[in-house]
Amino acid sequence: MGQQQHTTATDGTWRPEDLEAIRDRYRRERDKRIRPDGTAQYLRPTGDLASYADDPWSDPPAAREPVTDAVDAVVLGAGFGGLVAGAHLRKAGLASIRLVDTAGDVGGTWYWNRYPGVACDIESYIYLPLLEEVGEMPSRKYAPGAEIRRHAELIADHFDLRRQSLFHTEVTSLHWDDEAGRWKVGTDRGDAFTARYVVVSSGPFNRPKLPGIPGIENFVGHAFHTSRWDYGYTGGAEGVAGYPGLADKRVAVIGTGATGIQVVPAIAPDCRELLVVQRTPSTVDRRDDEPTDPGWWAGLEPGWQRRRRENFLQLVTGGVADENLVGDQWTDIAPVRGRRRMVSGRGEDPALAAELADHEKMNELRARIAEIVADPETAAALQPWYRQMCKRPAFSDRYLQAFNRDNVALVDTDGLGVERMTSGGLVVAGVEYPMDLVIFATGFEAGVDPSVRAGADIRGRNGISLEEYWADGLRTLHGWVSRGFPNLFQLGSTQNAVSVNFTHVLEEQSENVGAVVAEAERRGGVLVEPGQEAEDAWVATIRERAVHMQAFLAECTPGYYNYEGQPKKRTEAFGGGPVEFNTIVRQWRANGGMDEVLSS
Ligand code: NDP
Repeated sequence: MGQQQHTTATDGTWRPEDLEAIRDRYRRERDKRIRPDGTAQYLRPTGDLASYADDPWSDPPAAREPVTDAVDAVVLGAGFGGLVAGAHLRKAGLASIRLVDTAGDVGGTWYWNRYPGVACDIESYIYLPLLEEVGEMPSRKYAPGAEIRRHAELIADHFDLRRQSLFHTEVTSLHWDDEAGRWKVGTDRGDAFTARYVVVSSGPFNRPKLPGIPGIENFVGHAFHTSRWDYGYTGGAEGVAGYPGLADKRVAVIGTGATGIQVVPAIAPDCRELLVVQRTPSTVDRRDDEPTDPGWWAGLEPGWQRRRRENFLQLVTGGVADENLVGDQWTDIAPVRGRRRMVSGRGEDPALAAELADHEKMNELRARIAEIVADPETAAALQPWYRQMCKRPAFSDRYLQAFNRDNVALVDTDGLGVERMTSGGLVVAGVEYPMDLVIFATGFEAGVDPSVRAGADIRGRNGISLEEYWADGLRTLHGWVSRGFPNLFQLGSTQNAVSVNFTHVLEEQSENVGAVVAEAERRGGVLVEPGQEAEDAWVATIRERAVHMQAFLAECTPGYYNYEGQPKKRTEAFGGGPVEFNTIVRQWRANGGMDEVLSS
């Protein structure tokens, strides 16, 4: 199709035939990628593939004595959600807090992901939680992974969250004991302890997934998933450029999502040959990373992080704000532009305004590729043809440039993925590519039902499981508590409102949990559980305010946002967005809401 552009007139209006042409192109690209097996196309790293999930960073202890004590709180997950919840529970006065994680230490996704180039593409000043309280100055606007992991460790140490924690351990059962007023906690290492409070923060990306490529198990070369990087094979070390083990290797990176685009430029100079295997191109916008200015940092006024986070949230979800403190390309993504266009007085229908802003943004991103990538065929294949929010936007000032190297080649599968793997390499469109190393940058299980995401059998009053309770639809108050499951709090994206700055979401939720627990303790340790009316009202609000994204997502290229091209009918997010959601929850607390959930 070449690098064609469907352009606008200079006043931002579009000719109907151009609009139709672009819609048509998007549909054709989507249709190439739709597969009947949808989310079932991926493989879990179990059975013959189990070693793909092994922990390269620390060995699980061979055996340990089961833990059988009683703690105030158990927190499932020691990523930023679990850590921030732990911090707020500590502030609420709890003495014994136990984080449990399958990883060997705290950090969650930042514990696992240590691949070359790993960094956060959300600004570190708003991403790193509790930065004013616990922090050191981030080195850069977009901090590298090792620094983010260190920040997680600092939070753990500051709030003494490691001492009682259990690592290399998975909670398998959580059963409410009505008589004792406590949760009985079982783990895969034979622990059987009790806790008064439970926080579930298993994270959206807690399980790596592998592509369902026929013959994947036949490959006899070396292979690993990006979240389990093998420095023993590649040489080098995390955060230090240079991977001498790749100097004589033919390397393939499969996957061009946010991870793939960070890995490719980081290892490109070191590989004998690097093939980037693409199924769908990401949108790749400018990143504009820069070192932190110590003078600016020193001059920040107390409360700055909340203000900066809220300003970003307002811009990214609402489109307009008085100022733009972060000023990055997230604050210029297509929906933000759409909202700006809507309030610009053109009088356009909101859906059309959003679509036109999207096309303009995507045209710019496609043009950027053509400017950077020298080979026109490669540049054309790297162009994304879908609306920007069909997939997670990506940002890099190095990825596209890597294709101008002589040792880097794009293998575009035209939406079909790798055809099969042989003992010696990959086959794409009938052509075999011999490989020494295959790196799967194929992401994580997403879209798993929240009642099973934690991986534990959760049973509340009368032995009813969370899965049973939610069989006819999720039921929560503000997404964090459910009737029949006293003192059990869920962090994440269920029946609340999320944003790309996920740690901000987690901190708002944790603050709420901490405030309610502090009050429960003040009242003598009464139980936290929503009344029927309060829960019913919130479920009704979720339904009434739902923003129906199905039509938009059905037009999208497949990905985890739309369950691989099969979007769900019902949305469980609060349609008013996170700014309104946070206000609702704060007002609820200020106006006696806690009385609704605290039984005397
Ligand atoms: P993604 O799920 O976003 O990407 C997986 C990639 O693998 C896609 O390009 C996908 O293609 C490709 N793929 C899957 N199956 C095949 C196949 N059979 N053949 C060829 N290619 C295949 O995973 P990531 O790890 O990149 O990112 C996951 C999430 O982690 C991100 O969305 C982001 O939220 C987070 N992240 C955040 C970062 C940050 O800086 N904040 C950095 C890295 C990750 P297709 O698109 O066609 O499905």
